Amino acid sequence: MNTSTQRAARRWYKGELHFHCERSTMPEMLAAYRRRRYDFCVSTEHDAVHQQAPYCSPDGLCHPTDGTRADRPLLLVGGSEMSLTIPGAAADGANAANGKPVHVGAFPLRAPVEKHAPTWPIFAELRQLDRPPIIVVNHPLAGAPERHWSADDVCAAIGHGATHMELNPRNHGIEGGLRLWDEVLSRGQRVYGVLTNDAHEVTNIGRYGATLVQAAALTAEDIVAGLRRGACYALESGCRARLSHVRRDGREIAAAVTDAEELHFIGAEGRILHSEYAAARHYRVPAGEHYVRVEAVDDGGRRLFTQPVWLDDE
Ligand SMILES: [Zn+2]
Ligand SMILES: [Zn+2]
Repeated sequence: MNTSTQRAARRWYKGELHFHCERSTMPEMLAAYRRRRYDFCVSTEHDAVHQQAPYCSPDGLCHPTDGTRADRPLLLVGGSEMSLTIPGAAADGANAANGKPVHVGAFPLRAPVEKHAPTWPIFAELRQLDRPPIIVVNHPLAGAPERHWSADDVCAAIGHGATHMELNPRNHGIEGGLRLWDEVLSRGQRVYGVLTNDAHEVTNIGRYGATLVQAAALTAEDIVAGLRRGACYALESGCRARLSHVRRDGREIAAAVTDAEELHFIGAEGRILHSEYAAARHYRVPAGEHYVRVEAVDDGGRRLFTQPVWLDDE
């Protein structure tokens, strides 16, 4: 994770990386996110991009209009959830000619991309933009099994520019998402895990979890930069634990988490390498492990998931 000397000036911001609404219901959604103490949210409309105006000032900050918590603006970032197809992948009958239909998130984004286009050429287009967006594998295990992302699919997406994957599939717990993430990481691939709510209405907010991002300021530029360098972690809804930092010194990992009852250091294939129930939360990773990630559990059994620390260059 981040080891910059600027670390002291940064703080953690709670964010939603994936939600939907009509233009008419945007104010209601933004108010609901603010009530739930989110600092930012990324609008990811299906094959469309909601512009920030008229909900926010030009810097993307939306100030409350109900007279409450005027000190606490919410940052809105415009993005899109793209309906694409993975060429050549196994597909259901209706889409057999075109490949596997999938959803991919991209932000920040000013304009939508072509719907049902082949996935990898669209990734290439996105990477050519002046401000290339972050590309996210969305809900990889949602819907019918023939639409699920395989580890091969995720690895291909990473090869074409995806840097993040959702751990939350719709209609599942997140255990499947964690297994898929570890499967991909175990192959030596690097991808960050995030939790989102894929909220389509106010009552969906908080159904899965949030992503916390370490940034110098609540601006789209700083939040996106934090996500890009992996200065972020996934938090299950209701989890009281909060990450202060994960630091690495050689093969020694130090994790500082507040309000956690247990810390688990997880290695390849999702194996628990080590657990801690005490205040000292250091762990020396054995030779042969090429990544380790930390799961912290609070007193209610809710978890937070740090990004992997890679040890390949040791
Ligand atoms: Zn979707
Ligand atoms: Zn969605």
